[in-house]
Amino acid sequence: MAKPTPTSKAAPPSKSARPDLSSVPASWSQALTSVLLVIIFYELVWQLDFFYKPIVTASMIIVFMAIIAINAFRFGVKPALVVALIANIYTIYAYAGPTRSLAPINSLLRAEWLALVLFYAPAIIIGYLRERVDESIFKERQARSMAEQEQLRLTTILQQLPVGVVIAEASSGKVIFGNQYLEQLLSSTHTPVRDESEAVPLQEWPMRQVIEGQTLQSEEFTYNHAGHDHVLRVSGTPIYNSLGEITAGVVIIDDITVEKELQQRKDDFLSMVSHELKTPLTSLKMYIQLASRQIREDNLPASASLVKANAQADKLTQMIADMLSLARTQSGKLEYRFEPVDVAVLAKQVINDIQPTIPTHQLVLQAKPVPAIMADPDRITQVLINLITNAVKYSPQADKVIIDISSVNKQIQLSVQDFGIGIKSDAKKRIFERFYQAEQRQGQTFPGLGIGLYLCSEIVKQHHGKIWLESKYGSGSTFFVSLPFKQPKVSKKG
Ligand code: ADP
Repeated sequence: MAKPTPTSKAAPPSKSARPDLSSVPASWSQALTSVLLVIIFYELVWQLDFFYKPIVTASMIIVFMAIIAINAFRFGVKPALVVALIANIYTIYAYAGPTRSLAPINSLLRAEWLALVLFYAPAIIIGYLRERVDESIFKERQARSMAEQEQLRLTTILQQLPVGVVIAEASSGKVIFGNQYLEQLLSSTHTPVRDESEAVPLQEWPMRQVIEGQTLQSEEFTYNHAGHDHVLRVSGTPIYNSLGEITAGVVIIDDITVEKELQQRKDDFLSMVSHELKTPLTSLKMYIQLASRQIREDNLPASASLVKANAQADKLTQMIADMLSLARTQSGKLEYRFEPVDVAVLAKQVINDIQPTIPTHQLVLQAKPVPAIMADPDRITQVLINLITNAVKYSPQADKVIIDISSVNKQIQLSVQDFGIGIKSDAKKRIFERFYQAEQRQGQTFPGLGIGLYLCSEIVKQHHGKIWLESKYGSGSTFFVSLPFKQPKVSKKG
């Protein structure tokens, strides 16, 4: 598997690494030694008085210039200027000194401008250029070192992530990076990524879609290995260069097999509990109805307790119906029977049925005539009941709920508006999630399981519709459902 190569034992750029050449003692001693050696050499030459003096003089000036240039090139402006100054003083001494051999030329060299041109200018120009080059090399090294540090940091983070990360080259499909978690994943599952040097068999691997420009968002893939299904949650995105071309793809993989198994067990448990509760509850409801009929037949006054017991039994029935629907939705066994449904008529029936069980609120129906659509009336009833009972439950201080039905843009739009506690904006995003319950004000508690809205959204999805809400925290919420006129004609399973 591709192992990242932690390249950087690279030390952080320190201040002492700056090219402050004057602070390096070796450069000063070498510069001074070089000029002193030249002076000693020419002192001997003058003492010997053997060579043709104008040639010696010319060579001495050239050698000084060379020494100045070399020192400027090696050590920068300051050491070179000191060498130039010493050379300048020595040439003046050679003129004024006992030999006086440099008289013709030194008279010129003593002139400041010639010394400036021959000795000082090269020291300054060459030294300056050298320092600029040093500085840019230093800056480049510093930038490279920082980039290495950055890469190391990123690699360490990627290595430690509790999800698998794979990066593959777009051109060849070769994996260029895979983290430790991915290695563990590969030892327990069988995914097509095998070896760093091996091109990924693109047709088998979600990386293919990513390299081709697709973005994957928490998509689930199942891989079978040694008779075991592994569920992987995969996200991925292409990496573009500045020209907008895809250069690589990054894929993030999480093994959610255990999570899925737990979820399955929870759903099985829920399904079992709701089944077990359904039978005694049906009997209870039957006994309540029997008792009510008995009272009526005996011409006794109606019992308020029995009415309340009946309403509570209805609530419980609804709750169990939701739990069963949830279990069936999860296992894909929730059946849909599509038939022509007039949603306005259906809403009227639902309201008539449940209004007697809601003494605290008036359910106001504002229904315009709408065309019949293909829908499952039982499921749409479930959506209406859930939205209306929520509207009532979460508006304890209010006394009405408005249900509106109309047709908008070839869609039936139904809305349920309450004037209750409202929903905070951060909770809005998660409200249709399974088991999600928004945090309430201190001291406020509302009974519930957090599955009603999830079911509504699943049912609406099966009708190719949309569900959303508008809400102002503290002043109420409106839930909207839109269902397209055109529905699938065949009955299908959810
Ligand atoms: P629950 O059984 O908890 O009511 P739902 O799935 O029906 O579960 O609703 C999820 C959460 O959404 C609720 O716990 C509640 O916090 C919030 N909620 C739903 N409907 C309303 C509403 N009309 N007003 C305020 N909050 C609501």
